[in-house]
Amino acid sequence: MTVMPNSTEGRDIAYQMHPNVNLRKYEKSGGLVIERGEGIYVFDSSGKRYIEGLAGLWSVALGFGEKRLAEVAKAQMEKLPYYHTFAYKTHGPSVDLAEMLIQLAPVPMSKVHFTSSGSEANDLVAKMVWYRSNALGQKDKKKIIGRIKGYHGVTIASASITGLPRNHESFDLPLDRMLHTSCPSFVHFGEDGESEADFTARMLKDLEDLILREGPETVAAFWGEPVMGAGGVLVPPAGYWAGVQAILKQYDILLVVDEVICGFGRTGTLFACERFGIAPDALVLSKQISSSYMPLSAILLNDKFYQPIADESDRIGSFGHGYTASGHPVATAVGLENVKIILERDLVGNVQRLEGQFLDGLAKLAGHPLVASSRGVGLLGALEIKPWAGTASGDAATAVQAAVQDAGVITRNIGESICFCPPLIITGEQIDDMFAGVGKGLDAAAAARG
Ligand code: PMP
Repeated sequence: MTVMPNSTEGRDIAYQMHPNVNLRKYEKSGGLVIERGEGIYVFDSSGKRYIEGLAGLWSVALGFGEKRLAEVAKAQMEKLPYYHTFAYKTHGPSVDLAEMLIQLAPVPMSKVHFTSSGSEANDLVAKMVWYRSNALGQKDKKKIIGRIKGYHGVTIASASITGLPRNHESFDLPLDRMLHTSCPSFVHFGEDGESEADFTARMLKDLEDLILREGPETVAAFWGEPVMGAGGVLVPPAGYWAGVQAILKQYDILLVVDEVICGFGRTGTLFACERFGIAPDALVLSKQISSSYMPLSAILLNDKFYQPIADESDRIGSFGHGYTASGHPVATAVGLENVKIILERDLVGNVQRLEGQFLDGLAKLAGHPLVASSRGVGLLGALEIKPWAGTASGDAATAVQAAVQDAGVITRNIGESICFCPPLIITGEQIDDMFAGVGKGLDAAAAARG
């Protein structure tokens, strides 16, 4: 298809530098222009309809076109479109959302601090970890442990905690203080003949060995997503989180849980911490907090984390961090309304009711000749694509994703996986439609492969 220079596609190629693409390839191919959205569907500029099987970027819990969020945004824009939370000022929307998050938190939390993206939030928690260690006089306790395939964002500290080579290579990252332990995905890293229980024990031993090698007095915090998302929807084995927490406790290491994808019902409980029995010291939230209608993220800190930071700010004179948009009134007003709707419509219950159907649908697709296996939890899942002759790493999943998109379902290919994370408002019938489209795409990819 030729791209006309004056079209949106042509002007996009001419003027915009996109995130997460091969920039040279983009200059030739351009991108799919998405024009509008309605419920679980989005429509491209030719009017073609797609099921958004990844809820945008794992985020549009309420689907597209939720009028109540638009109305709240408009009302807040008219009343107080902007104010900050610096210099002893505050405003109602940020207070209301902070209060609600403390009330809903999976474990007792003391304070909420707002930022605008998952990356910013994780980056700031890393700074808070160092600030706290300094406050406690633990000048050497600064190292942070993330995990291979973990994803926590792309700013300097959060990209360093992320365990994906693309986010490090040529950026001169990770920072020296950031270490990575093994990825607890049995399908990808289990060894021949190893049981899942033995695999879990090996993962835990790897973590403890790393802490002991570095010296526990130098390790300040461990970071993890309950279920890894952008690493390819990697569900940890039973016993993993209990084991990790026992080790962290033994060596006095803070636990930072990143629920940027898992939060607000995705895994069938309001927070995945509940489902996996995790008690974090800091909890990072974003995406479904506002269904991404507005950029918003939140950091919840428990007393153990917050109190030394407050003492240090008192000693220095101020907590020297903040953004122009920290707690932005329109973003927090939209976030509050969004969370209210998730609760009112019992979307967590919807996930619980549909989980079986969703996972069964994926398991059925695993019978397709191009699919090796399926996995998932709640409404978060993935298919593992079998590479075929002549494909380099990831090519098969790229081809399947493109064919599935042609068949009317937008998903995301990550490595050899095709990932699913539909809006939480999806119905059983729509899940069947989504997987029927995926089946068609798989057949088309198989036919094209020959
Ligand atoms: N943490 C996790 C678990 C994420 O999935 C993401 C985004 N995919 C981030 C952090 C970074 O969020 P953002 O893109 O808003 O910076």
